Amino acid sequence: MTRPQRLPPIVERALRPKDGHCYRHCSRPLRAHRILLARPGVGWVFACPSGVVSVTRYAEWGDRAPTERVARELRRRCVPPGVVRRRDLRSATRHGPELGRAAERRLASRPDLRVRAVYWRVYPFARRSVEHRLFACFRHGAGEVVFYPAPSDSTGRDCPRCAVERRGRRR
Ligand SMILES: [Zn+2]
Ligand SMILES: [Zn+2]
Repeated sequence: MTRPQRLPPIVERALRPKDGHCYRHCSRPLRAHRILLARPGVGWVFACPSGVVSVTRYAEWGDRAPTERVARELRRRCVPPGVVRRRDLRSATRHGPELGRAAERRLASRPDLRVRAVYWRVYPFARRSVEHRLFACFRHGAGEVVFYPAPSDSTGRDCPRCAVERRGRRR
């Protein structure tokens, strides 16, 4: 097994998320939040202004799909961790030609490695007959994220970890 590598900057730029809109929630533009998810790759959370997550993506340069490691890392950032289910994670190999000439040339220098991407997508689900979605809170420091499920009409201000910290401060 070869140790996975960081993506070369030119490849990371080629993979940079394209704009999108929050589908079937608020239709507002999604923002890509770069997160420190697993090493040595790079993670992005695509979320609307209310914090509803469209998709979370991780990518590295390696010889195998990092799906299990990414699942573990996501569980550490999710309240409760059980929301991260293996069947909601999809892995894909991204090839040079689709990323542009320069990226393709750079990737050709290590033919033993591939760009390994993992996508985590949670569709709306019912809890006590109320539609819930996956939200993300980015108020925990640079590169940090907390995922949590909440009713679809939530304002995005009910992060359970923020609530714990507020209680701690009041004491
Ligand atoms: Zn939205
Ligand atoms: Zn929070």
